Amino acid sequence: MTTAGINGIAGVDSLRSVLAALEKEGAAIGHFNVADVVLLKAVIAAATETKLPVLIGASEGEREFLGVRQLAALAKSVREETGWPVFLNADHTHSLQKALEAAKAGFHSVGVDFSALPIDQNVARTKETVQAIKAVNAAILAEGEVGDIGTGSEIHETAPSEVGKLTTPEEARQFVEATGVDILAPAVGNRHGMLKSMVQGETRKHLDIERIAQIKGVAGVFLTLHGGSGTEDDHFRKAIAAGVNIVHINTELRVAWRQSLAESLARDSNEVVPYKILRPVVESVKQVVSSRLRLFHGQLVSPEAVGSAA
Ligand SMILES: [Zn+2]
Repeated sequence: MTTAGINGIAGVDSLRSVLAALEKEGAAIGHFNVADVVLLKAVIAAATETKLPVLIGASEGEREFLGVRQLAALAKSVREETGWPVFLNADHTHSLQKALEAAKAGFHSVGVDFSALPIDQNVARTKETVQAIKAVNAAILAEGEVGDIGTGSEIHETAPSEVGKLTTPEEARQFVEATGVDILAPAVGNRHGMLKSMVQGETRKHLDIERIAQIKGVAGVFLTLHGGSGTEDDHFRKAIAAGVNIVHINTELRVAWRQSLAESLARDSNEVVPYKILRPVVESVKQVVSSRLRLFHGQLVSPEAVGSAA
């Protein structure tokens, strides 16, 4: 994004307009999950350091731990203090009640997820939830999910025996039309969590780029890519070029959080000052977030940048 673009975005308080502006530039916003204040600080520090807008996600479990209204208040105070476009998404929301709770707390978007249900029930319950949250806040963005992208942003020992069902373009078109979602989360080769071999950097996830382009062509809405952790960098670039607007990263942050916390604790067994122990953890997670934000923004796309990154 150009400096003018950043300045333009910084003053805009709408997630929809930020997504549209990024799309025009061939870029996507990074979505990073937080479960505690260390992760939250790391994501915000990365956004202000890279001067890029950011979407903070919290699943039902993460929201329960941090507090729905407490997280919303923290994010709001950061926006007010810094003027930076920091947005909040209620990730993987499995009930109408939890969706309403997040909408009332001031979240900018709600990821409605009834994808485990048969398609007709998924459509009916997503539609009902979209209408309910838009009655609370007409500007809120509603996301719906169709297809199988697995569960659990954690380290998996082995790959699932069966490949999850990928979303077809026709299914995507019908789902969007029937539910009224603003954002669609398709299954396009992405999967939640990381295999051990991915954490060790030996293997990478690959995406079905052609399918993304086909879905984008008929869905007519923003696309979000869940389960981005461990994906090949070049596949991220191609997926964004094909129409992905939001990229979710969670497991990579959790891995950095745990590893750096273990290192920090091991450094001095007599240290008991929380902020001294946790400061390196914030720094370590921030580095992961910053590098992902830059990648999703195409800052490594220029040939010389790709060459130096290789
Ligand atoms: Zn997800």
